[in-house]
Amino acid sequence: MNSVTTVLAGLDGVRPGVEALYRDLHAHPELGLREHRTAGKAAEALRAAGYAVTEGIGGTGVVGVLTRGSGPTVMLRADMDALPVKEETGLPYASTATAVGADGVEQPVAHACGHDVHVAALVGSARLMARAPEVWRGTVVVLLQPSEENGNGARAMIEDGLTDRVPRPDVVLAQHVLPCPAGYVGTRAGSFLSAADSLRVTLHGRGAHGSAPQAAVDPVVMAALCVVRLQTVVSRELSATTPAVLTVGSIRSGTGPNVIPDRAVLELNVRTYDPAVREQVLAAIERMVRAEARAAGAPREPEFEHLSSFPPTVNDQDATDTVTRAFAACFGRGVHTADLQTASEDMSEIPAAFGVPYTYWCIGGTDPVLYEDALRRGTVAQDVPVNHSPRFAPVLQPTLDTGVTAAALAWLAP
Ligand code: ZN
Ligand code: ZN
Repeated sequence: MNSVTTVLAGLDGVRPGVEALYRDLHAHPELGLREHRTAGKAAEALRAAGYAVTEGIGGTGVVGVLTRGSGPTVMLRADMDALPVKEETGLPYASTATAVGADGVEQPVAHACGHDVHVAALVGSARLMARAPEVWRGTVVVLLQPSEENGNGARAMIEDGLTDRVPRPDVVLAQHVLPCPAGYVGTRAGSFLSAADSLRVTLHGRGAHGSAPQAAVDPVVMAALCVVRLQTVVSRELSATTPAVLTVGSIRSGTGPNVIPDRAVLELNVRTYDPAVREQVLAAIERMVRAEARAAGAPREPEFEHLSSFPPTVNDQDATDTVTRAFAACFGRGVHTADLQTASEDMSEIPAAFGVPYTYWCIGGTDPVLYEDALRRGTVAQDVPVNHSPRFAPVLQPTLDTGVTAAALAWLAP
């Protein structure tokens, strides 16, 4: 038997445990930096498989280490957090959990991004590796990261001394479940996920009675003109072949029909792939908003707050080639070149902290029959629930088997 078949021989043995862990995590989702139960379950499973486990890195982060002689050190990373979404999948193990958010309001919580798939699959991979010690040499570092959705979990682990507390990897590997047919595996060298920036812009006007616009500088009109003007950043200032997204996701102003308010607040989200384009778009936003405020005769300059920032995910060519070769050996025609994604991730901060290469791939989680039907009807966008949708519900299999197998075999030469 070669190393692939030896490792895969253990798959039947770990599958029931992986499925049970998945259903359990799915029914008990936790928001970012509060993944205490999830982290505890993962740590317990890793310890039982023989890993040396460190808990509480960056709050709830967990790292398990298993060494079998000298050889490469490979870090496998999964994120653990759920989202403030009300699950509407109708599954028997659907979440009914709630949590009090940062704003003090109780909200529903669900694994609408599939991070439960990532944790369960990675625990399964860790167990497979532990069961087949004869086929590999080196060190496996299993890392479970908190709070990916808020973009601060990787940083929390790094600021808590991650690089001094765990072995330095030669490469970092990670995966995400996406709305492609279950069984699909997608790799991509170079740019894969966008950088993301969220901004808050406060426009200052002068409030007055709704009947007396001559006494006011109306921030509602100023905000409306900004929203329209900002549409031209991507459409008129970037080349048609330069991908970028600019969304004004929130606009708030005023309290009633007969009062002109004194301020308006816009919240914007920007997605880019190239640092120079990112700078260009952020500068264009500031230039246009300041000019609109000046044009309106605003009494004060607008204010700009940077709410969050995700780095771009740019996969290392050699690491991606190695992983793609390994996947071709076990998934055959299931392996594809993944499309460029406008989603974002903080995963790359971890390899950046160690100064090592990484590659990040995706696996499908959608029922293949549902996907095929939607494809035939031309209704994939409407009928296939995407990540963060209340109806996002990966099918158990072959999604979990694919995730378990991919992470375990990614760095094993066939
Ligand atoms: Zn997400
Ligand atoms: Zn996610």
